[in-house]
Amino acid sequence: MARHSWAKEVNVPAISETIKSADWKTEKHVPVIELPEKIEAGKEFQVKVSLGEGVAHPNTTEHHIRWIAVYFQPEGAPVPMEIGNFEFSAHGESVSGPNKGPLYTAPSVVVTLRSDKPGVLQALSYCNIHGVWENTAEVKF
Ligand code: FE
Repeated sequence: MARHSWAKEVNVPAISETIKSADWKTEKHVPVIELPEKIEAGKEFQVKVSLGEGVAHPNTTEHHIRWIAVYFQPEGAPVPMEIGNFEFSAHGESVSGPNKGPLYTAPSVVVTLRSDKPGVLQALSYCNIHGVWENTAEVKF
């Protein structure tokens, strides 16, 4: 029996086909992954994932980065493991109207990790207007 695909019936792409990537130096939606120069097996290290290192992304009530998700795929693992999912919830909303509020969360997060295996860090960022973007970085010992 053929597997039912709702997406095919309504002619929209699978979500994996909509994830975009590019060079973060020129494309403001791509998450930038920063790693220490030296990482040791079994020892904690910090990873920073942020946007806007090359070109700033807007941070307004109408147009902003809603979340960043970070995964790690250890060498030989069949699927990525989720490290964390970070939501950025304040974008100038106010009872006075959009962009009248005092608070804005910037799309930037630092996580501390420890891994016994090398692998690949994967980051996704979601813009409420321009969708999901990805980037990867290699973790070597
Ligand atoms: Fe955008």
